[in-house]
Amino acid sequence: ERISIAIDGPAAAGKSTIAKIVAESLGYAYIDTGAMYRALTWKAQQQQIDATDGERLAALLRGMTIELKPSPSGQLVYVDGEDVTDVIRTPKVTNAVSQVATHEPVRERMVELQRSIGEAGAVVMDGRDIGTAVLPFAQLKIFMTASVEERAERRYAENKSRGIETPLEELKEEIRKRDRLDTEREHSPLVQAEDALLIDTTGRTIEEVAHEIEQLAKE
Ligand code: C5P
Repeated sequence: ERISIAIDGPAAAGKSTIAKIVAESLGYAYIDTGAMYRALTWKAQQQQIDATDGERLAALLRGMTIELKPSPSGQLVYVDGEDVTDVIRTPKVTNAVSQVATHEPVRERMVELQRSIGEAGAVVMDGRDIGTAVLPFAQLKIFMTASVEERAERRYAENKSRGIETPLEELKEEIRKRDRLDTEREHSPLVQAEDALLIDTTGRTIEEVAHEIEQLAKE
């Protein structure tokens, strides 16, 4: 059986790294829904649309195309045919994306797009509301967390490997701020689905956690 796997949790908990490995090992598609919110945020900044303007953001989203393409070096992201894979990870986008994601009309359309990709199964989807809103019928739901310290340290190492040096304290602040916006927003806030399994990745290796999820998927 080819199931749907939903992986939710706060920023930098290891979701995308682990989801990618699990998807590859099961022969499933991997869908990074955060990249879609980031793509919209980037496009809005290009067009000087304010992150607080939900209606204009939703209209922009309805008029643009977001493509996620698997590649050996990870997932590539295209907006209206343009490769935005790297630019959507810059601090400018990261610092605005959670505000963009608070608006109901934006979330409604995103959920629609994501559900149409995910409902066929054989998919690992990560985000904040996959188990609760996008794929409430997913056969396996994981809620992934880790301590803020460890999440910041991982992000630090990840940035460094890409030639970016952001002070650890700054990363902690950014992570805390996004967590706050994600958990306190009015429309489908970040919350563990009732039937989701909690996995705390603090002090655990990527391989260990990926293996655990693969085993659960096979049950
Ligand atoms: O996963 P990533 O950190 O790239 O997500 C960026 C932001 O997009 C999150 O902080 C959150 O505000 C938003 N997001 C969301 N719902 C999702 C995925 C991401 O609100 N399903």
